Amino acid sequence: MNWTDSHDLIGFDTAQICLYGHITNDAIHNMPKFSEKYCKRCGEKTITTCPNCNEEIRGALFDNLDGIVQLRKTPAYCQNCGKPFPWTETTIQAAIELSVEDGNLNESEVVILRESIADLVSDSPRTQLGAARFKRIMGKVGVETAKAIRDIVVSIVSESAKTIIWPDK
Ligand SMILES: [Zn+2]
Ligand SMILES: [Zn+2]
Repeated sequence: MNWTDSHDLIGFDTAQICLYGHITNDAIHNMPKFSEKYCKRCGEKTITTCPNCNEEIRGALFDNLDGIVQLRKTPAYCQNCGKPFPWTETTIQAAIELSVEDGNLNESEVVILRESIADLVSDSPRTQLGAARFKRIMGKVGVETAKAIRDIVVSIVSESAKTIIWPDK
């Protein structure tokens, strides 16, 4: 087999992301001029390393054919220590507060909602279960609340979770 035209992964640059999860620069070493100390979009402080283990946040991918391949989605968890990044927790918390505000869920349903969103963030054997639970709970809150929660969590849930929960999107 001829491998000469295959894509070879050269490596990852480091990403700079604000505490709310906006990617401000996905290649701080190769494109330092795009770095921002504070996010242009929301004013939050930006970070380039995991607050838990100090590993650099994985950013744009470099390969031999395309050069820089943009980082499209903010990573939810640190690839080094597995802990959720600050924006993941902030997003889950915002969704939980909306659901409490809605008033239609009891305490155990709010707990299930929190667990189910955490299960939707990365693909795992729990993704299907998390999606089923999330859909069930969303059926109990008001339509407006469900829409608002969707707008918030869509930035952190995995692509396959999205397909299960919102197949028509
Ligand atoms: Zn921001
Ligand atoms: Zn880490």
